[in-house]
Amino acid sequence: MRKVYMDHSATTPAHPDVAKIMNEFMVDSFGNASSVHSFGREARNALDKARQQVADLIGAEAKEIVFTSGGTEADNHAIKGVAKTYSDKGKHIITTKFEHHAVLHTCEYLEKEHDFKVTYLPVSKDGYVQVSDLEEAIRNDTILITVMYANNEIGTIQPIKEMAKLAKKEGIIFHTDAVQGVGVVPIDVKDLEVDLLTLSGHKFYGPKGVGALFVKKGMKIDPMFHGGSHEMKIRAGTENVPGIAGIGKAAEIALHQMKERSDKIVKLRDKLAEGIIAKIDHVQINGGMDNRLPGNLNVSIAYVEGEALLLNLDQKGIAVSSGSACTSGSLDPSHVLLAIDLPHELAHGSLRLTLGAGNSEQDVDYVLNELPEIVVRLRSMSPLYEETKKSEKEGCAHV
Ligand code: PLP
Repeated sequence: MRKVYMDHSATTPAHPDVAKIMNEFMVDSFGNASSVHSFGREARNALDKARQQVADLIGAEAKEIVFTSGGTEADNHAIKGVAKTYSDKGKHIITTKFEHHAVLHTCEYLEKEHDFKVTYLPVSKDGYVQVSDLEEAIRNDTILITVMYANNEIGTIQPIKEMAKLAKKEGIIFHTDAVQGVGVVPIDVKDLEVDLLTLSGHKFYGPKGVGALFVKKGMKIDPMFHGGSHEMKIRAGTENVPGIAGIGKAAEIALHQMKERSDKIVKLRDKLAEGIIAKIDHVQINGGMDNRLPGNLNVSIAYVEGEALLLNLDQKGIAVSSGSACTSGSLDPSHVLLAIDLPHELAHGSLRLTLGAGNSEQDVDYVLNELPEIVVRLRSMSPLYEETKKSEKEGCAHV
């Protein structure tokens, strides 16, 4: 059976050169970067190199990159760190309704445990946050604005530059969770003028369990962990040298291959979208197509359950997601799809297909062959679908 992986927003396979360098720093150059001897120095050099590679990917300076255990930690550090460091200036945070849980749950924690007030900005039906809504939400005591760069479920890219500009004008710290964007689309922190930015290695063919927080030069942020003086005293703990060498290599490759990868992926994604629309009735694409991650396709297929689609596709060797990877296991409709005001029944029938560098035309053809058949089979068990088709035939269509 053919195996097709279309869940690159959940994670990507490590590039072979990434795996190679990680192995080198696990087996041969295994030193602790804090040791003074040659083994330690080798590890230290690897950290320095990776810091520069990650910085180059986002237009930062090496000393602005703090390595973390991934996107979740970097988001937590950015939000809790600002909350702790600047709470004397105010206790109001602005975020959006469709952030990743690493941001949402951190904000909720601050509300519950530390008396912060949080404004959750709405999202338009096509998946964008409005700068005017942000402008209205700003208060005298707002100390942090955190808005994701690109949504992990519907792939829509937010007007971060405009929002960060507004934050700067108002003297408010701006953080963006750019986990889905970094290494996938060009991102330059100087151009965006953000103060803090989160990235994660496993979304761009690097290792899992390693990410980084960009902290703009001159910005003070308290550490979350206490211990040694690693990572410019912002993040204590013996550095994950293999992982960091791996994310550095992944960043270097992404910088050089981004355009080529993206051009190929967009073509495949668009072919997939057109095929699905042509072959399946009562289907809609969620999120605007204009400003969107290259590999993301999120569709709602009426009269079927997303979970049932996912399981049936899995039996055919096709890996997709029916919502955020981090929320699978729960049958609640995705908070992202509810934020864009999708009716429950459509939110339940949604599928996220995220293409990546390894996908081919044959993969798309295979999905376009299998998915419509599965939909027909599942809909044949839906009395509601039968009824709809009947009334459509009789000329009184309803959705
Ligand atoms: N933020 C976004 C937008 C994500 O998509 C994810 C992971 O899916 C995270 C944060 C968490 O990153 P990590 O898996 O590295 O903890």
